[in-house]
Amino acid sequence: MTLRLVFVGPPGAGKGTQAKVICQKWKIPQISTGDMLREAKANGTLPQELVQKMASGGLVPDEAVIELIRARTEKEDAANGFLLDGFPRTVPQAEALNKLLESRGQKLDIVVALDVPKELLMERACLRRTDKRTGQIYHLKYKPPPPDADLEHRADDHEDVVRNRLDTYEKMTADLLPFYEKAGLLKRIDGVGDVEEVTKRVVGALEQVKRLS
Ligand code: ADP
Ligand code: AMP
Repeated sequence: MTLRLVFVGPPGAGKGTQAKVICQKWKIPQISTGDMLREAKANGTLPQELVQKMASGGLVPDEAVIELIRARTEKEDAANGFLLDGFPRTVPQAEALNKLLESRGQKLDIVVALDVPKELLMERACLRRTDKRTGQIYHLKYKPPPPDADLEHRADDHEDVVRNRLDTYEKMTADLLPFYEKAGLLKRIDGVGDVEEVTKRVVGALEQVKRLS
C-alpha cells in the first residue's frame, strides 16, 4: 500500500514528533526540508544567504527547497510513499509538488494540518531539545531527555526567532491551507493533548483516507 502525505503546521506543532511514529508504522521515509537544510548547513554546503534566512526565521527561496524535494523523492526508498514534514510552505511550492507528482503519475493522499494554539507553540519550540546522535526529539517539560542524551538546542528555537517563525508561518498558511482545502485533501487535526492521543487522531485520519481510496 502506498501513502503520500504532507504535514503542515506551525513551528512546534508536533510535526516531527508525529512524523517519526507514522513513518515507522507505514514504513515510509520522513522527508523534512528543515532537517535537510540544517544538514547542508552543518556540512558547510548551504549558501550564506540561506543560512541567514534560516537564522532570522524567514523562508529560504522556493526553488531551493523544491529541488531538495525533487531529488529526495526520486530515491528508491520513497517509491511506495513518503511523509513531507515542513514542505510545502507556500502555494508555489504546493503547485510545484503537484506538477512533480503528476509527472510521475502519482498524487498526494492527504494533507494533515496540526492545529495548536499560539500560546503553546512558543513553549513547545523554546524548550525543544534534540539528541544529536539519535535524532530523537525531547522537551524539557513534556518529554524530558535521559541523562546520557547528547542534546542540541536549535539556533532558531530562541524566543525572538520563534516569534518571527510564527509570523512567517501565519503569512504563508493564509494561502496554503485553503489551497489544499479546495483540492479536498486537507484534514485538520487537534494537536493539543498527549503525544499518543494526537497520534491516534492522525492514524484515524490516515486509515480513513486509505479505506476510501
Ligand atoms: P515541529 O516539528 O512541528 O516543529 P516537534 O515535533 O519538534 O514540532 O515538537 C516541538 C516540541 O514539542 C518538542 O520539544 C516535542 O517534544 C514537543 N511536543 C510534540 N508534541 C507534543 C505534545 N502532543 N504535547 C506536548 N509536547 C509535545
Ligand atoms: P523547520 O525545521 O521545518 O522548522 O524549518 C527550519 C527553517 O528551514 C525554516 O524556518 C526555514 O527557514 C527553512 N525551511 C524549511 N522548510 C522550508 C520550506 N519548505 N520553504 C522555505 N523554507 C524552509
